Amino acid sequence: MAKTNGSHKPELAGLNCEPTSFAELPANGGRVKPLPILTPRRQFLTQATTAGAVLATGGISTPGLATTDSTKHGVAAFLDKSKTFDSSLKQLARQDYRRSFQTWGGQLSNSPDELFHAIRNGGGEPTYDFLIIGSGYGGSILAARLSAQAHSPDRIAIFERGREWVPGTFPDRFSDLSAQTRETIFGPQRKQLQNPLGLFDVRVNDEIDVMAGSGLGGTSLINASIALRPSPDVFWEPEWPSALRDMAALEPYYELTELTLDMGTIPGTRTRKVQAQQQVAEFLGYRNERTWLSIALNRAMLDAESRNRHGVIQRPCTYCGDCITGCNIGAKGTLTTSYLPLAKRNGVRMFTQTEVRYLEPCAVGWRVHFTHWQDNGRTIDPVHDCVTTANVVLGAGSLGTTELLLRSQQHGLSVSSRLGCKWSTNGDGLGILRKAKTCPNAVGVGAYPIDFAPVGPSVETTTFVNEHGPLLERLLIQEGAIPRAAANFFGLLFGNPDIDNTLAILAVGHDTAEGKIRLVDNRASVFWPGVQDSEHRARLQRTIARFAEAHGANYRVIRAFGDRLSTVHPLGGCSMGDSTESGVVNHLGQVFANCGGHGVEIDHEGQSVYEGLYVADGSIVPRSLGANPYLTICALSERIAFHMPNTPSLAKFLRSWG
Ligand SMILES: Cc1cc2nc3c(=O)[nH]c(=O)nc-3n(C[C@H](O)[C@H](O)[C@H](O)COP(=O)(O)OP(=O)(O)OC[C@H]3O[C@@H](n4cnc5c(N)ncnc54)[C@H](O)[C@@H]3O)c2cc1C
Ligand code: SF4
Repeated sequence: MAKTNGSHKPELAGLNCEPTSFAELPANGGRVKPLPILTPRRQFLTQATTAGAVLATGGISTPGLATTDSTKHGVAAFLDKSKTFDSSLKQLARQDYRRSFQTWGGQLSNSPDELFHAIRNGGGEPTYDFLIIGSGYGGSILAARLSAQAHSPDRIAIFERGREWVPGTFPDRFSDLSAQTRETIFGPQRKQLQNPLGLFDVRVNDEIDVMAGSGLGGTSLINASIALRPSPDVFWEPEWPSALRDMAALEPYYELTELTLDMGTIPGTRTRKVQAQQQVAEFLGYRNERTWLSIALNRAMLDAESRNRHGVIQRPCTYCGDCITGCNIGAKGTLTTSYLPLAKRNGVRMFTQTEVRYLEPCAVGWRVHFTHWQDNGRTIDPVHDCVTTANVVLGAGSLGTTELLLRSQQHGLSVSSRLGCKWSTNGDGLGILRKAKTCPNAVGVGAYPIDFAPVGPSVETTTFVNEHGPLLERLLIQEGAIPRAAANFFGLLFGNPDIDNTLAILAVGHDTAEGKIRLVDNRASVFWPGVQDSEHRARLQRTIARFAEAHGANYRVIRAFGDRLSTVHPLGGCSMGDSTESGVVNHLGQVFANCGGHGVEIDHEGQSVYEGLYVADGSIVPRSLGANPYLTICALSERIAFHMPNTPSLAKFLRSWG
């Protein structure tokens, strides 16, 4: 069951609200009073747009660091506000990171020279015992847990295509945000790789755009950190392999992850967007509860030196609202504050800017072909090479892992014909609500000192719509902050820089998982003809419209970039099944082999699987979860990691649990 933390009864302190239609209420009066704390920002914004002040939308100038061009006003001034400043909070975050990993030279990643040296001096032996591809939730968990059981943990390596990102350096203005997309999103160069080291992997497709993170720590760097368990009846559905058709099989692994990532909820009602959403949920008659987050919410979660349970320095959250573009305070729990330091301490080597292209079986295990992206300051140049490893764990995410297996298939790997199928958006939907009369104060402010109301983490609560109805009709609605870096973009899109009362509504639900991933020009592309006209989409839009109405806000489906859906929760592509007819991997992440002979073994259920080839990430989830997915991806990965030491063919590398 979804975690419940305390009462879900909304607290309406400071608001005189009766559950009537908020849409009918005037902006500055009636039953819903805007909190006075918003005024300074509004005043500031008004001054800024007319007098060319240095405020970036939702942010504030840092005296002594900003440059002001007082001749600019209107839209020019608005654009001028897209400035970024090296605030003391950012400097502190960078120092904290370096201090946390001082033992390893202030960073987690290893030098690429070490990798190339190891490849050249391997002799006839595979260079590594385990090569983990991708450093998201699945990859990092496997690295941490396998290294704890390994005879030679320093013979485990991670290849991550993105950079190592240090808090205090994440983009907080729009120009930086757009420069950090891996592929070009608009224009004739659409879908072409523009920045192989970009933080945002935004893939534009014909029907559905998909977004994920790229960097050491995977999508944890840019997610909202919401940790939710799905409803137990989701696991009764036939898509799951029989070993997982009872959620109890995952219980200890959920608990382990919740502990490792130090989950908690924000105590009390603090932010305006939470108050607004709670009012609306109550008005519409839905249960709303605080959601578990992996964020250092207060000092109590840290020791006297501000270190978390893994010895990494974190700072208490400043409620800046920028979680989904990367936390510049160092408060958000990511994989670089948890599983990756655990792995590092055990000796795991971490190679960033190293993108795997495909893999093939070889005499010593697996040959993995990769490109190292060498950043020369002005250019980013590819260096192609290959490495051998006894075992591989694919943890490159739903699109990344499926893409790798599709390419490997083209190079002769014989896998299930289900590869690329059963792909789901996790029922995602996004609505941008403008001019909300509930005044949600939901535009991020960045890592700058502010003197107006805190925004809050990107998402703080979940509202359950049709909670006990059929799965396809259930929806979770979450109130979302617009990060500072995206604020100017929305302002321009709406033709109005005043976006103070704009609120993002995020919906998570169920779809029919009928998407397909295929390789087009060697790139994973998603196909789902007709999904734009699906009942699921219509239901999403109707529900978001009801929330918009209750917030007294304008809601319009934005079609500026085409009539497409979007998801930040891609699932499937290499889904689990009981056999090669129903899935690509078994419930322990072992890849089914569509052939016999050398390098193929028989799993516990008598199916042929490749020796030493595993998948642990969102690509194995065989259907929508109806809840934000990372907690379940973690639980599945912890379970895979737990079972690996007892696999006979891995005894040479791992100590068994006995
Ligand atoms: C904006 C946003 C907000 C989100 N908020 C939430 C939330 O609040 N709660 C929640 O549960 N979920 C959230 N998610 C989704 C969640 O973060 C993902 O479901 C989860 O991170 C997936 O984990 P993973 O292990 O499958 O892969 P990922 O975390 O995506 O990691 C995959 C890694 O593999 C790397 N990689 C890919 N291809 C290659 C290659 N060829 N070679 C080497 N490396 C490669 C990638 O760079 C990446 O680092 C959010 C996602 C986004 C984009
Ligand atoms: S609200 Fe701001 S400080 Fe808090 S976790 Fe999110 S990005 Fe970090």
